[in-house]
Amino acid sequence: MTPSKYRTIFGPIPSRRFGISLGIDLSPGTKQCNYDCLYCELAAAKPVEAIQNPPSVELVVDELKSAIKEHPDIEVITITANGEPTLYPFLDELIDRINEIKNGYKTLILTNASTIWMPQIQNSLAKLDIAKLSLDCATKECFKKLDRPLEGTELENIIEGIKSFRKRFKGSMIIEILMVPSINTSKREIEALNRTLLDLGADRIDIGTVDRPPAYPIEPLSFKELYEISKEFDPSLPIHIAGRHRAKEAKSSFSDEEILSTLLKRPLTQADIEALFDEESQKRFEALLQKGKIETKKLGGLLFYGTGFSKQKRKSS
Ligand code: SF4
Repeated sequence: MTPSKYRTIFGPIPSRRFGISLGIDLSPGTKQCNYDCLYCELAAAKPVEAIQNPPSVELVVDELKSAIKEHPDIEVITITANGEPTLYPFLDELIDRINEIKNGYKTLILTNASTIWMPQIQNSLAKLDIAKLSLDCATKECFKKLDRPLEGTELENIIEGIKSFRKRFKGSMIIEILMVPSINTSKREIEALNRTLLDLGADRIDIGTVDRPPAYPIEPLSFKELYEISKEFDPSLPIHIAGRHRAKEAKSSFSDEEILSTLLKRPLTQADIEALFDEESQKRFEALLQKGKIETKKLGGLLFYGTGFSKQKRKSS
């Protein structure tokens, strides 16, 4: 698909986390967001309350129908924006129309969660299959410093909104945390996030770092640094280390005992294992798996390897 063919549809894009996706951009051309995150990959811009000059529902649906015809092998339709898709004024109508034509494809929204406390937004998002909500901080100070929201956006409303949305949402709820050195990686911030996450009931929690040059000078974390951070969270939390920067990582040697104790503290995906374990350790991992010493569990659409799943109280399956 050429980038200019559609105004609002892009892709298909292969995604390890969600499958092959056709994206819908509800703010084509200009960034329109109610945050101005330090790590944003779009140009820095003043936060706004609503998407101005939104594309019509008719245009989006017509373009989507034609893109689906062209790419019938996609797996997911992703609602996103050059900014925040829940600021699109016709979101509810659009989701209803997408559901009429989705024909077995999954539907996903990527949102910063700023509006999740609003009943009308919850009603709309509850009609989707997957909701990926950002939550970078669990303290006000961190939230203001990192996500730089529109004046009047309250973190407590967002956290309470995620909790109430979880109660009614039957689909897969994924929380994404973007880690920025010395802002949300301190002991205090991780402890606050940990306490909050234990109450949210996410199906999966993706922790990641900047992948592309961001709007402001932010340094990325290495896979190993993210892995060390992931171990600070409660082992019952379904944490997945997300990102495209694994290949550069140096792999280490793990004995059988080290493999088992690592998986007890933090369940890992196949991609994590390939990034962390050297070749010999991967063989040891395979042997332990064959012997039944390692369990598997699907969390938020990804297969995790771990030990002691049966003893942990996870809210998802
Ligand atoms: S919420 Fe997303 S689009 Fe908005 S500023 Fe943050 S990273 Fe950029």
